[in-house]
Amino acid sequence: MSDTSRSRLEGLTAEALACTACRLAEGRTHVVFGDGNPDADVVIVGEAPGQREDEQGLPFVGPSGKLLDRLLGEIDLRREDVYISNIVKCRPPKNRDPRPDEIEACKGYLREQLSLIDPKVVVTLGNFSTKLLLNTETGITRLRGIAYQWWGRYLIPTFHPAAALRGSAQVLADMQYDFGLVAAAIAGNLNVNIDERAPEVTVESNDDPEQLGLFGS
Ligand code: URA
Repeated sequence: MSDTSRSRLEGLTAEALACTACRLAEGRTHVVFGDGNPDADVVIVGEAPGQREDEQGLPFVGPSGKLLDRLLGEIDLRREDVYISNIVKCRPPKNRDPRPDEIEACKGYLREQLSLIDPKVVVTLGNFSTKLLLNTETGITRLRGIAYQWWGRYLIPTFHPAAALRGSAQVLADMQYDFGLVAAAIAGNLNVNIDERAPEVTVESNDDPEQLGLFGS
């Protein structure tokens, strides 16, 4: 990242810390802007901060974060190697789903974070971030398992770790498969057979900006 981009990211962080663009500003303890390596190849996008994240001002520090650390570890990445953020930077009350106007008010921060960090791979965790970035109403169960070409990089959607924590072993296995795609994308060999369940990994190409979400809309 250039010095200019680094100082813009710092400026953007300062703006977000003072943001009052939506009602979530009223109940927050901390703005959870993002954390990790601004030179990362991988940016991970979750939904919204929970209680622990709101207390500490850091993303994914609760139980979901522990599982995320494990999944990263399994592909030889540490949290410090990636950059982690959310589509909504402040905790919704009682961890309710973020509302459309809150996502709308916040999405400019994510758009600029992604432009400045310019990763090779964006990983979306769960329905909210996947639908926003891929500009689709299709659910995560149908979208995952595939790497999408997205604004000159790969977007790899997977389940939210909270779904694996309350779901079946299959959800975790599917997430491990998707993180395998992330490892392959970083290594530049996404088209090879990396899992016998999927002899050909599909990379969907989509050149229509209207369909690319976040930047296109
Ligand atoms: N869940 C999220 O989506 N983001 C966090 O930061 C923590 C839990």
